[in-house]
Amino acid sequence: MPRPLHFAANWKMNLAPGEAGTFLDRFLAIDHPRHGRTVLFFPPAVSLNTTATRLRGHAGYAAGVQDIYWEPKGAFTGATSVALARGAGASAALVGHSERRHIFGETDADTNRKVRAALDGGLLAMLCVGETLAQRERGETDTVVTRQLRVGLEGVAPDAELMIAYEPVWAIGTGRNATPSDAALVHVAIRDVLESMGFPRQTAVLYGGSVNAGNVAHLLNEPELDGVLVGGASLDPDSWATICATSVE
Ligand code: PEP
Repeated sequence: MPRPLHFAANWKMNLAPGEAGTFLDRFLAIDHPRHGRTVLFFPPAVSLNTTATRLRGHAGYAAGVQDIYWEPKGAFTGATSVALARGAGASAALVGHSERRHIFGETDADTNRKVRAALDGGLLAMLCVGETLAQRERGETDTVVTRQLRVGLEGVAPDAELMIAYEPVWAIGTGRNATPSDAALVHVAIRDVLESMGFPRQTAVLYGGSVNAGNVAHLLNEPELDGVLVGGASLDPDSWATICATSVE
């Protein structure tokens, strides 16, 4: 029995509603649902409703937001609450993506508020963690990832609907990905931290960073990887369908 795999597409600031609809029409025409596989789409907030609507009735596919704000409502211009995301069809939220951390200045304490708000509101939370190149070169990978997990998951119930994405910052959008064994070492460290905090060791831990149709099978052959979070290569429906068709023994 092959292990369950999760394929998550982070469209970042791409694909307006019309483009998202065209993408999904093509993707759903060529992709074949598989037992034990989930495919998650993280479109920009404006395209969430189109995405969720197109996916309705297709088992194994879901849509989520790329970022969430912890306040329930009010004067927070530009922000998306859990209720707004759910109203537009989201069932998941990406939290702490490196671009949120490094471009928008999101702190570990912020990610914690976001994770808890998402979970409290009934969304699956996918917490992204990962070190910068400088941190890796200083041998700080485990320290950084441990801190991001410990602070990010503080106060979260052990049975929460949670996934972790290990995304080394130096591998995102650079064409340079971690080797499967490098990623596996960090995934084991992540599982150690999760377990020490009371979370199940088998919590899904995805790898992200320059994954594409050419390298995904090699990466997923490493059993520590429960799936992939993909940016650039998820923007083309054919490339994304090829990635999502990856199977392992
Ligand atoms: C990402 O944005 O989460 C990501 C992994 O991007 P890319 O696949 O383009 O490196």
